[in-house]
Amino acid sequence: MKLCRFGPIDQEKPGLFLADGSIVDVSAFGEDYTESFFKTDGLNRLSLWFAQHGEACALVPSTVRLGPCIARPSKIVCIGLNYAKHAAESGMAVPSEPVLFFKATSALCGPNDPVLLPRNSQKTDWEVELAVVIGKKATYVSVDEAPNFIAGYALHNDYSEREFQLERGGQWVKGKSHDSFAPLGPFLATTDEIPDPQALSLWLDVNGERLQDSDTDDMVFPVMELVSYVSQFMTLLPGDVISTGTPFGVGLGFSPPRYLRPGDVVTLGITGLGEQRQVAVAYDSNE
Ligand code: ZN
Repeated sequence: MKLCRFGPIDQEKPGLFLADGSIVDVSAFGEDYTESFFKTDGLNRLSLWFAQHGEACALVPSTVRLGPCIARPSKIVCIGLNYAKHAAESGMAVPSEPVLFFKATSALCGPNDPVLLPRNSQKTDWEVELAVVIGKKATYVSVDEAPNFIAGYALHNDYSEREFQLERGGQWVKGKSHDSFAPLGPFLATTDEIPDPQALSLWLDVNGERLQDSDTDDMVFPVMELVSYVSQFMTLLPGDVISTGTPFGVGLGFSPPRYLRPGDVVTLGITGLGEQRQVAVAYDSNE
């Protein structure tokens, strides 16, 4: 299944992407894609419900706004420097253990919403990433057990303000958490749709120019190791997101660096997980 959410901001309804790319409204199922949904075997319940009631579900116009593909989770855990060439372009060593940081869950937005350049931002940057959505409460999970704790996968752009991240003191979270810095979707693909998460191509263009172009088999720490690793330090709750790091080709890595300006268009995609498109706008133009 490919789960999505559609409609106005904060009023999204649950939907499903069908094989032909059309979207159907499954709000008659009666649940949003929340922690409670995943915790109570919602994926299986929705699948069974849809097999019985799918014919009666209305098609959604293709022009509809898509929201983030899941409701706001308890946390978004991000992995830093998980591709060797990206660590090099960032001027940092490949880590011996995964680097973890958080992104504020209020940064979550739809896959095609504008990216808001923060007030006084000069260094807003892009990061195409494979995001993992947790399906079951995970505490001290082994690598072998990890697949049982994953609900599915989604496309994520881990937007990053590099000055706020790296030059303003302390931890990276300041540069990772502005509103609109976590477009997630267009859909959550359940694990049966993505049999091998280490065999996916991921790419990102700015104004039509390909700047990131890599494969998930280049990850330093693969998905199952990451799920296990994070669960050694904190309990992952159903619906939580782990964003698995970005490959080479971010703006920070260019000489001179390249950052987003109002009007720039960012497009990105991952095999089997659809595409996103964001237009950069100044935050203050939005008020
Ligand atoms: Zn990232």
